[in-house]
Amino acid sequence: MFTPLPDKPDHPGLELEILETWERERTFESLRERNRSGPRWSFVDGPVTANRMSLGVHTAWGRTLKDVFQRYKALRGFELRYQNGWDCQGLWIEVGVERSLGLNSKREIEEFGLEEFARRCRDVVVQSSEALVRGSIRLGQWMDWGKDYFTFSDTNIEYIWKFLSIVHERGWLYMGHRSTEWCPRCGTSLSQHELTQGGVYQDRADPSLFVRFPLLDRDGESIVIWTTTPWTLPANVAAAVHPDEEYGRREGGEWVAVKLFPDDTFVEKLKGSELVGWRYRGPFDDLPPGSQVEHRVIPWEDVTMDQGSGIVHIAPGCGGEDFELSRVHGLAVLTPVDESGRFYDDYGWLHGLSTTEAADQIIGRLGETGNLVAAGLYTHAYPHCWRCDTPLIFRLSDDWFISVEEIRPTLLEENAKVHWVPEYMGKRMDDWLRNMGDWNISRRRYYGLPLPFYPCACGHLNVISSKAELEARAVEGFEQLEELRRPWIDRVPIRCAECGETVSRVLEVGDVWLDAGIVPFATLGWENPEWIPEGYATGAAKGLTTADLPDHAYWEQWFPADWVSEMREQIRLWFYSQFFMSVALVGRSPYKRVLAYEKMLDEQGREMHASWGNTIPAEEAFAQMGADVMRWQYCAQPPDRNLLFGFGPAHEIKRRLLTLWHSVKFLVDYGNIEGFTPSWSELEPAGDLRALDRWLVERTRQLVAEAEEGYEATLTVDVIRAFEAFVDDVSNWYIRRSRRRFYTFDEAAFRTLWYALVQSLRIVAPIMPFLADHLWRNLVQDGPASVHLAPWPETAKPDAAVLAEIAEVRRVVELGRQARSSSQLKHRQPLRRLVVAGASPVAFPHADEIADELRVKQVEFGDVAASELRVKPNLPVLGPKLGAALRDVREQLARGEFEQLDGGRFQVDGHVLEPEEVLVERVGLDGWAVASDAGLTVALDTELDDELRLEARLYDRIHEVNVLRRDSGLEITDRIRLWLPDADLIARYGDRIEQETLAVELGEGELRIEKA
Ligand SMILES: [Zn+2]
Ligand SMILES: [Zn+2]
Repeated sequence: MFTPLPDKPDHPGLELEILETWERERTFESLRERNRSGPRWSFVDGPVTANRMSLGVHTAWGRTLKDVFQRYKALRGFELRYQNGWDCQGLWIEVGVERSLGLNSKREIEEFGLEEFARRCRDVVVQSSEALVRGSIRLGQWMDWGKDYFTFSDTNIEYIWKFLSIVHERGWLYMGHRSTEWCPRCGTSLSQHELTQGGVYQDRADPSLFVRFPLLDRDGESIVIWTTTPWTLPANVAAAVHPDEEYGRREGGEWVAVKLFPDDTFVEKLKGSELVGWRYRGPFDDLPPGSQVEHRVIPWEDVTMDQGSGIVHIAPGCGGEDFELSRVHGLAVLTPVDESGRFYDDYGWLHGLSTTEAADQIIGRLGETGNLVAAGLYTHAYPHCWRCDTPLIFRLSDDWFISVEEIRPTLLEENAKVHWVPEYMGKRMDDWLRNMGDWNISRRRYYGLPLPFYPCACGHLNVISSKAELEARAVEGFEQLEELRRPWIDRVPIRCAECGETVSRVLEVGDVWLDAGIVPFATLGWENPEWIPEGYATGAAKGLTTADLPDHAYWEQWFPADWVSEMREQIRLWFYSQFFMSVALVGRSPYKRVLAYEKMLDEQGREMHASWGNTIPAEEAFAQMGADVMRWQYCAQPPDRNLLFGFGPAHEIKRRLLTLWHSVKFLVDYGNIEGFTPSWSELEPAGDLRALDRWLVERTRQLVAEAEEGYEATLTVDVIRAFEAFVDDVSNWYIRRSRRRFYTFDEAAFRTLWYALVQSLRIVAPIMPFLADHLWRNLVQDGPASVHLAPWPETAKPDAAVLAEIAEVRRVVELGRQARSSSQLKHRQPLRRLVVAGASPVAFPHADEIADELRVKQVEFGDVAASELRVKPNLPVLGPKLGAALRDVREQLARGEFEQLDGGRFQVDGHVLEPEEVLVERVGLDGWAVASDAGLTVALDTELDDELRLEARLYDRIHEVNVLRRDSGLEITDRIRLWLPDADLIARYGDRIEQETLAVELGEGELRIEKA
């Protein structure tokens, strides 16, 4: 007996039951045990930042994809590692802790105390990782929970130290003094790749100012510059003109680029190069820093003529390009603001103001001195701190960089070997690798990997490569070193290898992407001589994981990863950092294959923001849609398009999944009535199969082949499309066409349907692990206990001819339905005749099935004379092909001057047009309903006679009675006594009525039924 199924599944309810069952039966452990000596498939998990207290639907997307492919590979017998990872350091964590403690600046953190601050940061990681594990388990993700890696472990940090010391030996490590993007709130610079994260560039309205700089050697004349950052004006040292562009002087003495002011009249015009060298009075020469600078006009080829005045204000302390120009032209560099973005003391009345506060004062002052030519607002995309959302500024800073020039060619070569899905993601990586600048690896923060740099006054840079080396060279403080972390590590000075003096560590910590990038080395035991049980649980990770630190032989086995997968933005982040580190350490890519996917938006296509109220916590989604439906939504998404996630699409998915549910329920209901007991050992139906059964067997083989192809291409969307088409075939063709056989225990039909459903559950199990297992456990009672323990189905190659035949029949039927619905005739109205033109001859023997499906008396294959053909060019396709000839072709088509060829092609004006190049419309003549698609045309004779009308009434009645049966709560097998008011129907169709309604007695009277 099968367990009877309700009308629709309760997804969340059955999922919780399945989770319990998996736990009780140790399903995952059994799977791992079975695959233990199988071939290896190496997946390396990109760490999730452990700073949130519940799983988000964004994170659940990536986790689902990782789980799907791991489950698929496990079905195929591969041994997997299943190691989950957490990103544990950096600003994500720090900023959250600062907020919870109400701290607002670095000074306040230091006053609070770095030891306690570090402990609070660790607490966040502990709590968050626990919460995210709970969410991930609820999602159905199978991982080796408890053996996770944590990037704040001393082991992880030591591996990064090793990497940095190798980079230093190669001469790639240097300290750069440059103007970089800076977050005044976080008090640190940001690297180029941090600016590429989503949400960094936001539209913002800034002041737009035209400011006059009076010329010193040309009385009454001035140059006019344009700026959107007033706070940088006190740091002005030069103004740049394009040497080849023309500049003009207005009547009032102001010089601007002629091109930008086409309506102005100019009393004098000069080439930009002739302005070079002019000296001017700086806008804030009343403040000490400006007063010591000689301001002058310099040439710059990059001055653009698309906005502003054509003269660019240059402040090398406040802009990247400005800083480069200062080197070329030997300009002074003024740094107006400190780490927290506030003006230094020597800026007089600006002292202590933030850059935004200063803007108002500066504009006011320019107005008073008469140097403000015009002011307005300018909206542009402006970079914000990815963590705290503060607008960034440019600031001069000393940062540690890894030079990329020497390694760039190898990076490009190695990337070309990686298989990227979708392909354009690889191109993006290539673009990034070609254009990226040196890697800024230092951050002026607290909770991060301590950079092991000890620069000595003698000029030698000591770089420590391991904890052991630190111990050996420590002057003092090693014994108090709880973790490789600030503040403890700052108390361990070392002896300089060159001069023997005592040297201290720099205060900077490292870019978090170093933490995540080293993972393929740190977790797999690269160059580790001996396997250390639980050896990864070091430093802050102690007590949080029991992960081993494997040995080098293990690394050889599992490196590089066969597959990694993350969101597109990780191209410049994790995909990049691990790639860079791997190519630097061992000369090759750390992964062979990548799946990257686009962004998640809400179902209206807007970004999800807590403040907009359109975010969906995963908990809510679990409770309302269920994990399977979420997973379906993620997996149905082509990775090259944004996912519009929400309850609307979830509802639609639930509706579509009902087709599967109802097909299984059909088998369960009739199987129980007829006592059908399938056997796992005889999975494939054998014996007396009908043509339709043989077709479903082949169709099932085709599904397995298509799903395999989809999984192997890491395109879940292809698996889902194949599955949905299959379920539609099962329900709307096989079951529809075989219904009666189930009422009269035709065993071949039961076995064939059972086989098809069981196989489809196996292939969809990785995507929808709960529902698939729930139904499996009901349908397969003597096989593997869980669908996840049944191996991937091995099937013969499908018979293409059998499949093509029914596909063609279904195509005719579909078109017939279209024609029917265009005629406005009721579905139950029988019709006399259907004419089919252009169908493949394989459909001819199926005339009876087609007639039955479309409720017509007769199906003919032949010419459709009953319609007029209208052909139009498909412009987007045909335009490029025909070019100028298109016009004539179009006119001839409109006049009907074309010849119809085989296969939906047309000949016009000497051109042969393919089916996809034309839009064909069939217009029915009177009394015919016509539909046409890709060379196939069907025409329905819509003329009715009395007999057809009577038969329509018969179908209406039968339908009515069956609704009545259902509404009276009768079982599908209950027999009834039936009374109908229609004497003519009873006389003509009495037997049929009894058959279709399970009536044992039929009498004339008011419509009613009675259980017999
Ligand atoms: Zn910030
Ligand atoms: Zn020294």
